[in-house]
Amino acid sequence: MGGGPMTDRQLDLVVRGGTVVTAQGRQQADVGVTDGRVARIGGTISKGVHEVDATGRFVLPGGVDPHVHLNVEHLDPNEPDWVDDYTSGSEAALAGGVTSLGNMAYVLPWETLAARVRAESVLVAKQAIADVFFHTVVLAPSPEIAAEVRPAVAAGQSSMKFFMCLPSFEAHAPQFSRIMKAAGDAGGITLIHCEDLPTIECCTAMLGERSQMGMAHFAESRPVASELVAIERAIAMCRATGAPTYIVHLSSARALAACAAARAEGLPLFVETRPLYLHLTEERYRDADGPLYVAQPPLRAPSDREALWQGLADGTIDTLGSDHAPWTRALKLDPKLDVAHPRAGVAELDTMLPLFFTEGVATGRISLERFVALTATNAARLFGLYPRKGTIAVGSDADLTVWETRERRILRDEDLFSRAGHSVYAGREISAWPSTTIRRGAVVFERGKVVGRAGSGEVIPRGGTQALI
Ligand SMILES: [Zn+2]
Repeated sequence: MGGGPMTDRQLDLVVRGGTVVTAQGRQQADVGVTDGRVARIGGTISKGVHEVDATGRFVLPGGVDPHVHLNVEHLDPNEPDWVDDYTSGSEAALAGGVTSLGNMAYVLPWETLAARVRAESVLVAKQAIADVFFHTVVLAPSPEIAAEVRPAVAAGQSSMKFFMCLPSFEAHAPQFSRIMKAAGDAGGITLIHCEDLPTIECCTAMLGERSQMGMAHFAESRPVASELVAIERAIAMCRATGAPTYIVHLSSARALAACAAARAEGLPLFVETRPLYLHLTEERYRDADGPLYVAQPPLRAPSDREALWQGLADGTIDTLGSDHAPWTRALKLDPKLDVAHPRAGVAELDTMLPLFFTEGVATGRISLERFVALTATNAARLFGLYPRKGTIAVGSDADLTVWETRERRILRDEDLFSRAGHSVYAGREISAWPSTTIRRGAVVFERGKVVGRAGSGEVIPRGGTQALI
């Protein structure tokens, strides 16, 4: 080390000529990458070992999708599982501009939180191309699990999830409150699926009495009232414990208004919605292929859809999560299903961001900076990934999506990477899509092909929940 001029090692990668966008603003700038991290933004950047031409395109942080269902073993061996593993789920994600996936890791009743995280981590190391973090889903809130929450959060497993619509919630509500409190005290956050089981059971029974169990009646089996009563209960739990609380896939105007009022009180309550509610409404269930649209909560009315768009724009909604829960068309249209036995969930990873860009940014409803906040930065902050993930800054992981916005194309089933093999959005026109996706400095998707290797994805190191700005 002499006193001479500092000589730079050649950069591994330069993304050149694009408009770099973060939640804070945009600038025309080249981005230089070394060792998987952003080393330079702007200025004069000499030629890198690899170059990506982003001229005329936007360069955004890779998407952080906080809500996916990959590689799930169902408790019931007679039920089929969601069809994407970490490899096909990663392929769909990277093609859709998402580089970090928050997977629901179901803790089986005989497991510890740590055992489930270890089991998922082994699969990520073999299968993933995108980077991954986990939400440990607690199905049985035993004293052992409750005691494990604090050390789990301290070790970086800083998010827990539970479902109010499962019988185990009704039976153990106080124990779930204690898990929330323990997670919050340790710096973590709890995700809650808000649908009220007694209301759903009552509505389903009434449909049964009228012989209306077909999926045409799916929305009536889980009405807005069932979401609202559960949201009010989640808000009460948040108020009682003071613990950061994250409402997954909020679907209705009334539930959103309840959340907005709770936030105005200063409660640490955060709201996610998902693409399904932004692009589709409940009359779809009356179509011949209505079961394809079955998800929990169900599709809602046009007024709900508009309220959610408004909430995304004005900040009452914090994140867009895909709730990617893929089934093949045949599994969705299985004639043995009815409103009491639905197969819930749709494939979203390939299409979530291109459609949101097309319907939100290109129409002027959502600014590009707000798009970045909703699809990357806010989830990275809430789930302890920021600033490694969720932004473009010197020192951050070089997770970059180059967006082409100068052409139009039609979404087609045959272009999907998800093993679902079909999309409820097929046939729609999009005006934005990723031309190149870069994960930790490696080009993993370009020219319509995934070029990243299975097993190159990693489990993301995490801290605790950070405030949103
Ligand atoms: Zn889900």
